Amino acid sequence: MLIVQKYGGTSVADTKRIKAVARRVVETAKNGNKVVVVVSAMAGETDKLINLAHKVSSTPKEREMDMLLSSGERITAALTAIAIEELGHKAIALTGRQMGIITDTVHTKAKIEKITGEKAKKALDEGYVIVVAGFQGITEDDDVTTLGRGGSDLSAVAIASALDADLCEIYTDVDGVYTTDPNIVPEAKKLDKISFEEMLELASLGAKVLQTRSVEFAMKYKMPVVVRSSFNNNPGTLVTKEDKDMEKIMVAGITYDKNQGKITIMGVPDRPGIAAKLFKKIADADIVVDMIVQNVSSDGKATDISFTVPKTDCKKALELTNEILKELDAKGVTMRDDIAKVSIVGVGMRTHSGVAAMMFETLAKHGINIMAISTSEIKISCLIETKYTELAVRVLHETFGVGER
Ligand code: ADP
Ligand code: ASP
Ligand code: MG
Repeated sequence: MLIVQKYGGTSVADTKRIKAVARRVVETAKNGNKVVVVVSAMAGETDKLINLAHKVSSTPKEREMDMLLSSGERITAALTAIAIEELGHKAIALTGRQMGIITDTVHTKAKIEKITGEKAKKALDEGYVIVVAGFQGITEDDDVTTLGRGGSDLSAVAIASALDADLCEIYTDVDGVYTTDPNIVPEAKKLDKISFEEMLELASLGAKVLQTRSVEFAMKYKMPVVVRSSFNNNPGTLVTKEDKDMEKIMVAGITYDKNQGKITIMGVPDRPGIAAKLFKKIADADIVVDMIVQNVSSDGKATDISFTVPKTDCKKALELTNEILKELDAKGVTMRDDIAKVSIVGVGMRTHSGVAAMMFETLAKHGINIMAISTSEIKISCLIETKYTELAVRVLHETFGVGER
């Protein structure tokens, strides 16, 4: 088999952990497999590098940020290859460029366009273990890019697809994908398997165990992904195609996202074209709007519009809204960034009714006010005050007996 194994920051946090990774890799190879290893920077290293840059400038250039940040993964890749050689197995470390990972030119959040992997394929045939620096690629123009936070997950899944691997294993600091963040709810249960669709919702709604784009990639190329711990030998969670079994579970998982800001425009006239004007202005600034709430007034008079954006874009969105307040003929605008989004996710929602009502009742029973709601076929999200986040996640987990059939 050809197996791609990705090790996250905590799994390569120090040389002791790197040696443990090397042992697991060599064991996998000795069992007759070809192995490609993808590594993250040592835990905390990326944040450290970002802080360094901000000490030099408050607005560091993104191209140079990519040069800087990509070095973290490069260190781990070299150390891991050295540790594998030390155990008597052949290994070479490759940068994103040497792996032939070609991306677009959007620095700090580049998209992978193709992976050539010629050097890696040759070395694999010669019996080497390949250790690739995660989180990075190169533009056609030879500039280093990075793939966004958590991007080594994407490196691993994309390399696995490009090399037509049999399996992509994501090694992390928890035993797999849980019904909710096990570091917040100790009762959370590990899922044996989860569908690509559910995992995609969980990831995009805040479960950082897998980076969202890595799940999109896995789903598109039907690459089976196993999430497991590098600290033990427990089996982990298989992310795979949906099956009948999964539908029996109403709610597969619960997520939270504290990175939310809400803008409310008051007294907006109720007439065509207002929303178009407002949201075009926000979109032109590359700000992604998530939830939108607009009341239709019964008498054609003024109404309020609220929308949410990532907390980091909140100030900018407020400025932009203020700029067109007159044009919109609106009365005023307010902003809040002490809000969070809690969500429940499950393909079983398609066949179970009353799930939304149960969610709202549970929150109401605990005095948690819902500021906005959004739904899709397999998820329901509620906007609440940040201070209630942990409580909301815990009580929702209790109500839905998450993970049980
Ligand atoms: P790595 O450094 O290995 O990439 P991350 O910190 O990115 O690891 O992701 C693992 C973390 O994701 C866990 O420590 C856990 O706190 C968090 N997490 C959030 N939601 C979930 C979930 N549903 N299942 C498992 N882990 C989760
Ligand atoms: N080191 C990068 C980060 O911290 C990428 C990764 O770990 O996946 O975001
Ligand atoms: Mg991660």
